[in-house]
Amino acid sequence: MTSHSPALRTLDMYIDGQWVKPASGQYFETVDPFTAQPWAIVARGGAADADRAVRAAHRAFKGPWGKMHPSERGKIIHRLGTLIEEHADLLAEIEVRDNGRLLAEMQHQIRYIPKWYYYYAGLADKIEGVVHPCDKPALSYSRPEPLGVCVAIVPWNAPLLLLSLKAAPALAAGNTLVLKPAEHTSATALKLMELVEAAGFPPGVINVVTGFGKEVGEPLVTHPLTRHVGFTGSTATGAHLYSLAAKDVKRVSLELGGKSPNIVFDDADLDNAVRGVVGGIFGATGQTCIAGSRLLVQRRVHDEFVEKLAAFTRTARVGDPRDVRTQVGPIANKMQFEKVLGYVDIARQDGAELLIGGKRPDGDECARGFFVEPTIFTGVNNGMRIAREEVFGPILSTLVFDDADEAVAIANDSEFGLAAGVWTRDMKLALRLSDQLEAGSVWVNTYRDISYTTPFGGYKKSGIGRENGAEGIREYLQTKAVWLSTADEIANPFVIG
Ligand code: ADP
Repeated sequence: MTSHSPALRTLDMYIDGQWVKPASGQYFETVDPFTAQPWAIVARGGAADADRAVRAAHRAFKGPWGKMHPSERGKIIHRLGTLIEEHADLLAEIEVRDNGRLLAEMQHQIRYIPKWYYYYAGLADKIEGVVHPCDKPALSYSRPEPLGVCVAIVPWNAPLLLLSLKAAPALAAGNTLVLKPAEHTSATALKLMELVEAAGFPPGVINVVTGFGKEVGEPLVTHPLTRHVGFTGSTATGAHLYSLAAKDVKRVSLELGGKSPNIVFDDADLDNAVRGVVGGIFGATGQTCIAGSRLLVQRRVHDEFVEKLAAFTRTARVGDPRDVRTQVGPIANKMQFEKVLGYVDIARQDGAELLIGGKRPDGDECARGFFVEPTIFTGVNNGMRIAREEVFGPILSTLVFDDADEAVAIANDSEFGLAAGVWTRDMKLALRLSDQLEAGSVWVNTYRDISYTTPFGGYKKSGIGRENGAEGIREYLQTKAVWLSTADEIANPFVIG
């Protein structure tokens, strides 16, 4: 076993209602992105742990959870929501230590997460079937049934939120779960298991395995008892998992990358648009799949808008995510930090003009952690890598357009299609663009709005399937048709017609 400082906390996995050590006996360090120092060691799970977790989830599916009346399941899911609400501040602190997001932002986000559990808890006993007007002498009805063991693999930018978007509907539909948080941010998923226990979930209904994608994630996806893979993360990993799931014809929901356009027309309320554009790209330090990383500005207001934008961005206080005055925190991990700075170089080499940012901020507060200043490039064209590839950091690329047709053409010229923003006072124009934009979410005069009530997901390489709302639970159900013959006599099968 690798040796780690005894001062670090040890985080074990949660399988079948027990805290368990990894079969390998190995642990890895998880790092606080503000101090760049490890603060805990996390179990390095592998195939044996994945197998143990999926089998436990399968037993729970065939056993207590599967047999429980949906109203009872709903009650337990609702209780989990209440417990999250009660422990929101503690969960937020843990999340910040692991991923460096602003404490205030995480408190706000985690206080909102229970809504997913309440919403889907309410749906648990409303999953109804249909009696069909059958043209045969039979009563035929169909009803949705759960799939079985669902695997949820999530990234590091919003671990508890993204996990809940999957867990709440999957459980409400009657499935059981194995969760795999990202290797950088395992702590909140594990803390959640204490609440899962207190809420009264039978052992095995929710399990958490931790570790690296290839080592423990893939065995979860390829396990013969896994029936659904819910993934949020990069398009490359998502496509890989899709191909693995295809071998056994498993269901998948994929919520992948984006290069979302935020389109500002010359009639827009420019001050509102500035706030929306800044929130869209620098919120969460740009580490969201829906980041509005391509800013398209109509030529007539380009210079004025960019000036306002730069002035407002310069007011952002970058620093300690735990300080309530901080507005932009660090990047979540070293690898991502280096990748983001790498894109600054790429953009410059491709001829984009650096307007502001592009480096680590000056001063002691940002000297150790993984900080990058909010960065704006102008003079970007849509062929540049900075306009085509997902950076997942605080870098905004500014492009110019002349009319709506050109804006739509640029916006849609992307392999991604997760989201788009439109800023205009002309509602006819807004509706026309909403039709024409190839994106799973279109925000008009707002940006980055997500709700448990409203379907969310991607077009093109941004994903498959939808999370949230009533549509979200259908990802976790399959339809069974049942035929009950009403004929007095079964026809002779050798006589056709
Ligand atoms: P990013 O950190 O860019 O979002 P990924 O999309 O690779 O990167 O990671 C998202 C999640 O997918 C993490 O939990 C990660 O451990 C997991 N993951 C990465 N590679 C694999 C893989 N080959 N199989 C299963 N899970 C993986």
